[in-house]
Amino acid sequence: MVTITCYGGAGQIGGNKILLADRDTKIWLDFGEPFNMQEKFFIDWLKPRDRLGLRDYFHFDYVPRIEGLYDEDWLEHTDLRPAAPEFDAILVSHMHFDHTWHLKFAHRDIPVYLGMATDAIRRAWEDTGSHAVDFGEHEFRTFRTGGKFKIGSLEVEPIHVDHSVPGAYGYLVHTSEGCVAYTGDLRMHGPKASMTRDFISRATEEHPIAMICEGTRVSDEDPREDLSEADVRTRVQSLVSGTRKLAVVAFYPKDVDRVRTYRDVAKATGRKFVVSAKVAHMLESLSDAKLMDAPNPMTDENMLVYVRTGMAGKNAYERRYLDLVRGSGRGGHVVESEFVKKNQRDLIFHTDFSQLPELIDVAPEEHSLFIRSQSEPFEEDDIREDILQNWLGHLGLLYHHAHASGHASMDEVFGMLKGISPGMVIPVHTEHPELFQRTGLRVVQPVPRQPLSVSS
Ligand SMILES: [Zn+2]
Ligand SMILES: [Zn+2]
Repeated sequence: MVTITCYGGAGQIGGNKILLADRDTKIWLDFGEPFNMQEKFFIDWLKPRDRLGLRDYFHFDYVPRIEGLYDEDWLEHTDLRPAAPEFDAILVSHMHFDHTWHLKFAHRDIPVYLGMATDAIRRAWEDTGSHAVDFGEHEFRTFRTGGKFKIGSLEVEPIHVDHSVPGAYGYLVHTSEGCVAYTGDLRMHGPKASMTRDFISRATEEHPIAMICEGTRVSDEDPREDLSEADVRTRVQSLVSGTRKLAVVAFYPKDVDRVRTYRDVAKATGRKFVVSAKVAHMLESLSDAKLMDAPNPMTDENMLVYVRTGMAGKNAYERRYLDLVRGSGRGGHVVESEFVKKNQRDLIFHTDFSQLPELIDVAPEEHSLFIRSQSEPFEEDDIREDILQNWLGHLGLLYHHAHASGHASMDEVFGMLKGISPGMVIPVHTEHPELFQRTGLRVVQPVPRQPLSVSS
């Protein structure tokens, strides 16, 4: 018998943590933290006491008390005793916070499966993030799309999908009862829409007995504009070519499609696109591994890398770029705030929330552009709207918005489901699971932590 249990992701956007059990084999599909999980009791500097491992997490029931799931290091100050791992694997769909953040809690002997590009992003994220960025001591086993592998009684087939981060996968899990499909997060209007179509056509061939399906935008009031990446490019290009001042742009550092879009706009408008050292480090990791045709800011003639003043002693990746600016060779691609300040009309300058203070040194002229190219509060490092607006007002920047969502629309999700026509639909990663009834398919609502039986 096959069971599926949602420990996270039922009736909420994000926090996917889905247990699939087939006979003696037990695997997790993603291992994320729900957005806002802690918001009722914790804020800003008031955090669970990680030095006491999972004690505070158990107290508030943020994570389930399950034997053989957690690492000894995280159990030391709790009353759950360490045990040998009871689970065979964790499959990661993509490297977003809400799918991966709890990997560090999991027993280090549970292997983690993820795509090659997904793993490159994991490592770059650990290199450039704060000490809190930690995905544990697991064995990370990488795959490429279509490369099947066995875990106990299961055969797993990962298939690439398009999403707002490279290296996103859906899974077909071949169980003793039949195929179970899992979408991860996906979209159909992005530059790599054909990858999502590959997933859909393989899933359709397999006649899944169940499909665990994301529904971020399944809602009668979807606030997101229906823009494609090409639409973003058109809008941004007309904004940038209409100003003789600096264009400051904000988007999530892991959105490589957006990097490419701004690089192309820079080229078309005779500017250069300046990315932070954090973004550059991730792009170089992907580009060195020849993954996802990521632009390399150290060789792309339309790109530059920005290093922050005073960061030399703080982190290795930024020091490396700083050494280049002071030295010779590829240092020509590395710039500091003085350069950006002097060449405002020739540049597009990337920032993210944590690096807004760099604008003090860059000193954009009044009425320079600020283009926000992210919308979903459903990705990582959610931005405090009022604080951002205070910065824009203070600097006199003109606000614009241009974003293509990382998620398929409701019509697209329902169209996909009808086409694949699985025996059972299990909605996850959505606040409106009830709307899935409109597909006319057999929809089974997951109740958090209660196993659902799946059979052929
Ligand atoms: Zn997600
Ligand atoms: Zn995602």
